[in-house]
Amino acid sequence: MTIPDTLYCANMKFSVEPNLKSFSPVSGEVIAEIAKTAPMEVKTLVTRARQAQKAWGALSLNARSRKIKGLCGVLAEKAEDIAETISRETGKPLLESVYHEVFAAAELARFFGSDTPKILKKRRISIHLLKYRSSYLHYVPRGVIGIITPWNYPFTISFGDVVMALAAGNAVVLKPSEITPTIGLKIKEVIEAAGIDPDLLQIAMGAGDVGAALVEGGTDMIHFTGSGATGRKIAEACGRQLIPYVLELGGKDAAIVLDDADLDYTAGALVHGGFANAGQVCASVERIYAVESIYDPLVKRIVEKVQNLRQGDGLTGEVDVGPMIFPKQLAIVESQVAAAIEAGATVRTGGSAKDGRYFEPTVLTDVTDEMGVMRDETFGPTLPIMKVKDVEEAIAKANDSRYGLSAYVFTRNTQRGREIAERLEAGTVDVNDVLLTHAIPETPWGGIKESGIGVAHSAEGLRHFCQQRHVNYNILPSFAMPWVFPYQRRIAFAGFDFVKGLYGSSNLFKRLLHLLRGSWQVVMALRSSKKG
Ligand code: NAD
Repeated sequence: MTIPDTLYCANMKFSVEPNLKSFSPVSGEVIAEIAKTAPMEVKTLVTRARQAQKAWGALSLNARSRKIKGLCGVLAEKAEDIAETISRETGKPLLESVYHEVFAAAELARFFGSDTPKILKKRRISIHLLKYRSSYLHYVPRGVIGIITPWNYPFTISFGDVVMALAAGNAVVLKPSEITPTIGLKIKEVIEAAGIDPDLLQIAMGAGDVGAALVEGGTDMIHFTGSGATGRKIAEACGRQLIPYVLELGGKDAAIVLDDADLDYTAGALVHGGFANAGQVCASVERIYAVESIYDPLVKRIVEKVQNLRQGDGLTGEVDVGPMIFPKQLAIVESQVAAAIEAGATVRTGGSAKDGRYFEPTVLTDVTDEMGVMRDETFGPTLPIMKVKDVEEAIAKANDSRYGLSAYVFTRNTQRGREIAERLEAGTVDVNDVLLTHAIPETPWGGIKESGIGVAHSAEGLRHFCQQRHVNYNILPSFAMPWVFPYQRRIAFAGFDFVKGLYGSSNLFKRLLHLLRGSWQVVMALRSSKKG
């Protein structure tokens, strides 16, 4: 029987959505079928979430945080099941599913479960001049947050964003990637198992059309992680509706290797940075600039280590590098590498697709600035390495990019590394390590340039999920200041003296004279207005 894609009932139109299919990246077989949300249903999810938010948002910060902290225990209990689900649906090695996803998620829940009351408590503002008044900021949940996430870290990214939104007192409609829907459902399972009102987290299951419906669905903020192309569409739609948004987008992260780097350690870190999750990491090391004095020995060590990587099914095998998530991603990597070879790049190891699902871990040298492998996000297991004359050339090349997510510096001299880090145009720079800070919840995560707008994680990221409101109030009994109606020219002239006295020449005596004259003018003006 064929199922019609539209049903009419009492003159109302309902769409019958085909199930969403989840495919194994290893075999291409369907591993799950999950009911899809119709785009027209998304508004109902937002309404349901809004209803649940009222009671949740009214809880004290401590009460909410206790619930968030409870998520840690649930993650600990379900760790094996979650990690296996992640590896089954993404193909990534089980070790990565445990450490990069479950562990990182638990650390986020621990941090926001314990530090939210401190981060969101009222913040006093110290006022310079008008000491008879005071100010503070307070943080109010925005309401319902639309969260849209990608497939590459399908658990920890979605979970972390949901945790921050809930900790800040919001409800959430999450649209997980259509490529990893069963992992999206795991997040719902964990939230419910922690005893958090299930209506606080609604799942909109589907592809881009469902994501677009969520962006237009009446939420109070969109938190998006994904490609720049989708990010632009989301920014346009949010701009039109004047709702706030955070965008966590792609990168082309550079690593700079200085002449004093520990080459063996550096090569190992760079190989991990380039090939973890088969290179499908927003913060992957995507291009290396090595100064000429250490270039040859570094390349030799990197190639040796890459040739030892074991490729296969991340769920079942003793494996370092899994398959590409789907054939489209494999094709992107294939075409970038082929174009680089065509333009003169040398393949030091790897270089081609394997079994229709994998791309061999690949090291390229003799690359140029113009090649796609050095300019565009590859999101695959490739490490192009370029020789540079010195550190200045390396910094200039690293910064010559439209992206600015992460960057990496390797040197034994950490002070020198930090100085270089401060000159790199990236949201995060790691000195002597890779891919670390997304899992450190205390630190902000966000890109600059085309890598994103706003940050996630950290105190700053949490506050994004709130309206920041300002209250200014009198601490002395209220009295009328001389600059209110009726205006007097004499008081206006006194204002010139005050400006000169407060901000003028460096001659302190002159400034004091201005302040005295201004005050005198004000006193006289007030006396004459009283008499009048
Ligand atoms: P994508 O942009 O194709 O999809 C991301 C999400 O957006 C998915 O859930 C998708 O269904 C949804 N979507 C698609 N079209 C939409 C639309 N018009 N309106 C609303 N939602 C829509 O990205 P992807 O391929 O899933 O992820 C890979 C990209 O994500 C890479 O560029 C990677 O660098 C980036 N990424 C960035 C970070 C970060 O923290 N900066 C982290 C992980 C991934």
